[in-house]
Amino acid sequence: MVYAHPHHQGQQKIKVLCRVRPFLAHETPDGSVQVEEDQKVLRATNLRDPEKDIRYTFDACYGDEVSQETVYNNDVKPLIENVFNGLDTTIFCYGVTGAGKTHTIQGNENEPGIIPRAFKQIFQLAHNNVSPTGDGDGGCEIKVSYYEIYKEAVFDLFKPDLTTAHTATDPSATASASATTSTTTSTVVQPSGLPIREDVNRKIFIAGLSEKVVTTYDQFISLYTTACKYRRTGSTKLNSHSSRSHAILTVQVTTTTTQGKVHLIDLAGSEDNRKTDNKGRHRMAESSAINRSLFVLGQVVEALNSGAHRIPYRDSKMTRILQDSLGGRCVGMMIVNVAPGKAFLQDTHNTLNFATKSRDVVNKPVVNEIVDQRWSVAAERLYGGGVRGGGGG
Ligand code: ADP
Ligand code: MG
Repeated sequence: MVYAHPHHQGQQKIKVLCRVRPFLAHETPDGSVQVEEDQKVLRATNLRDPEKDIRYTFDACYGDEVSQETVYNNDVKPLIENVFNGLDTTIFCYGVTGAGKTHTIQGNENEPGIIPRAFKQIFQLAHNNVSPTGDGDGGCEIKVSYYEIYKEAVFDLFKPDLTTAHTATDPSATASASATTSTTTSTVVQPSGLPIREDVNRKIFIAGLSEKVVTTYDQFISLYTTACKYRRTGSTKLNSHSSRSHAILTVQVTTTTTQGKVHLIDLAGSEDNRKTDNKGRHRMAESSAINRSLFVLGQVVEALNSGAHRIPYRDSKMTRILQDSLGGRCVGMMIVNVAPGKAFLQDTHNTLNFATKSRDVVNKPVVNEIVDQRWSVAAERLYGGGVRGGGGG
């Protein structure tokens, strides 16, 4: 094939990375998942034919020896730099509970993940950004919001009173009070959350969501640490503190000439919740609502990939909110987290199949406010310039 499909012309992909976490103390190492030497391919034992492996190819594939710092420097750093050039970025961690999503995106004090590292970098860049007027921080404004999507409702993690208010409508009490046997009628009170709206420029926003201006790294960390405590968790057999919500941290960087946004997303576990032996209507309703956003995310990604006319952004809260950052003005990255070992193997194949579809998503970076050509130079440096004709036929 000589000609690239027009859809692919000059457009950029969402990068898809795979990261395999180490075996934990209570796990017995087995060879069911292996990263090939070139750090591009993951091999996982074929469940139907255990003598054989299935190979999955990624933009990068990291084994358990790869540190937080390496992941950040190799793959995240260049994306964050470009936010100062007006380029939006969405980075999300996808995988089953226990695969290492929170470790990757958030990390801990000893091994900080993407969020703290990104803010270190953002404040550094803001400080170095010399404005035409010579102001200290180049006139940069850094504004954050942090919210979660739980059962298809949006909650502000910077407004804990609202979050806890909704906890009162939670689980078993309501579920056991249910008298109906109909599976189509839910008697569980659904917390409403914040409404999603469109502004005059047809940009999506969350009405009433707080946005905090932060001026130092320490200020951000203290705000973030407090907010993290309000994330919704629920008990399942699989993991007593498994994350059942999608947590989205959004940073908006405004310089004198550009405006760029970063979404850093810790997705809810992608496991099939029917396997976690959850009983009761509430939990099942919750499972399907959680999986819906993930399911639609997969569909959106596939629709973009195939150049479909209808992209089903509106079919879930998360894809609606991210609409402007998926397929439009955005360079993106999905980090697929994988837990090693046979116990996770079916989940691993499900995860990798989802990811492999996503890998071909094509994305065109568009600057929010075109004041110079920095963004195109930046995009070219990131992904290589021009036509991606290779796989176009
Ligand atoms: P998830 O958020 O996907 O449910 P976690 O991030 O909580 O998974 O990871 C599960 C466990 O594995 C945690 O104890 C975490 O500290 C550990 N872990 C995950 N990834 C790594 C890694 N790359 N290196 C060391 N430990 C890890
Ligand atoms: Mg987690």
